[in-house]
Amino acid sequence: MIYDVVVVGAGFSAIAVTCNLIEQLPASAKVAVIGDDPGFGRGTAYRTELYLHRLNVPAGRMSLLPHRPDDFVEWLKSRGRTMQATDFASRSDYGLYVRDTLAQLLRKRDDRCQVDFIKAKAAGCVERYNSTLAFHLGNGDEIAGRNVVLCLGVGNASLPVDPVDVPPFLRSRIVENPWRLSWLRLVAPSESVCILGSGLTMIDQVLALRAHGHRGRIDVLSRRGLAPLGHAKTPPAPLLIDVQTLPGTISGILKSLRTKSGETADWRAVMDGLRPMTQVLWQRLSSEERARFLRHALPWWNIHRHRVAPDVFDRFEKLVSEGTVRFHAGFLKSLAAEEGTLLAGYRVRGTREIAGIRADWLVNCTGMERAGISHSPLLKEMSRFQLIAPDPLGLGIQVDATSEVLGPSRILPTRLFAVGALTAGQFWEITAVPDIRVQAKAVVEEIASNRSNRDA
Ligand SMILES: Cc1cc2nc3c(=O)[nH]c(=O)nc-3n(C[C@H](O)[C@H](O)[C@H](O)COP(=O)(O)OP(=O)(O)OC[C@H]3O[C@@H](n4cnc5c(N)ncnc54)[C@H](O)[C@@H]3O)c2cc1C
Repeated sequence: MIYDVVVVGAGFSAIAVTCNLIEQLPASAKVAVIGDDPGFGRGTAYRTELYLHRLNVPAGRMSLLPHRPDDFVEWLKSRGRTMQATDFASRSDYGLYVRDTLAQLLRKRDDRCQVDFIKAKAAGCVERYNSTLAFHLGNGDEIAGRNVVLCLGVGNASLPVDPVDVPPFLRSRIVENPWRLSWLRLVAPSESVCILGSGLTMIDQVLALRAHGHRGRIDVLSRRGLAPLGHAKTPPAPLLIDVQTLPGTISGILKSLRTKSGETADWRAVMDGLRPMTQVLWQRLSSEERARFLRHALPWWNIHRHRVAPDVFDRFEKLVSEGTVRFHAGFLKSLAAEEGTLLAGYRVRGTREIAGIRADWLVNCTGMERAGISHSPLLKEMSRFQLIAPDPLGLGIQVDATSEVLGPSRILPTRLFAVGALTAGQFWEITAVPDIRVQAKAVVEEIASNRSNRDA
């Protein structure tokens, strides 16, 4: 079957695109959404059931549709949740909200376009001479579209070392994908856990362990040993920042932001002032400066920018101060077995010294920050057929300012877009809802206007 639009993915980006398609396309249009996620619409972020897994963006900025800014707060109220726009709701509630919003749109409009949800994995893709891109599905079917939107999110990074010396009975204690929360039930309360990576995923897993009754030691190993900071209980007003006046180099920008932070009572005012302008700032940087940012400033950016809810931060800090959670800065070098437990050997940061962490469990929380294409067999095949090209920084794929994919040798007029983290090379700040929802709407506007021009 040939569709006007094929959306590939089943997380927030795919649902945001689909909601906008329902709002903007005429009833005659046909849309297919191909997704392999059992929790359709929730993706990795919003399928958790744990209340402590909270949003890291206040409820007032999490509406799915940018033209209905109070939508999520209204939804929370309609569900009897006592939440203000400045509060941090649970991610499971957010997952329900996303699915409710889609369901409402599908239910209400008699004159809406046709939307077929196809539960399958898109395994390959080929350009057809009837001006469509056709996706081969895991179940053997083929779905073709005149417009395609890739919403594949990011994959979980694989372990940085091969656990070659770990015997099979201990390999089952290496959790490669912590988002399959079933592993938590297997950990005995007194067992020790080593977590690789010290970002938001690490905090989530520490709190999830505690909620499941774990009381043992938790060692956290990351390159710098830095953990995310917290939102302020009373957020400061964002500082107005004119990015055009900032220097063109990363070191110059950092210096300028440090000076501004020194002049305000709370550095968060500077980060929050920069937030709406980050894409503009990124686009002003040369590719050398972007690479420099990723090499040197990324860990600092992450902990200041991706903050946790104040009460979540307090809980986590308590575990650190009482010694339950201990940080190590270094580079994982080996994984072996010793006396019935796992031994993670690492080079201590800034030295040649090799140290070791013994633990009953090892959990990989290293990887959600960079998309790349290596996690996805579909993207690798599309790259091999030159339908897409990896962006030079290895963050995702090359797109233009309208999120249209720049394929090196596409010859047919099919329009191929990408939404979400895959477009980080062009936009950088494109992994959270406030940015993705704007991008999703703009991509659908582009598709809708192209369609009406063609029909005119
Ligand atoms: C733990 C966590 C917490 C977060 N918290 C927040 C927050 O509080 N606020 C915020 O704004 N942002 C948050 N984020 C950022 C989050 O990434 C975005 O909000 C959003 O969920 C991204 O959605 P996505 O659809 O782009 O990606 P994903 O949610 O990763 O979805 C991608 C989907 O594509 C599917 N897929 C992949 N390949 C194929 C294929 N070949 N065929 C078919 N389907 C395929 C996958 O199965 C998946 O369902 C969080 C992220 C994480 C990981």
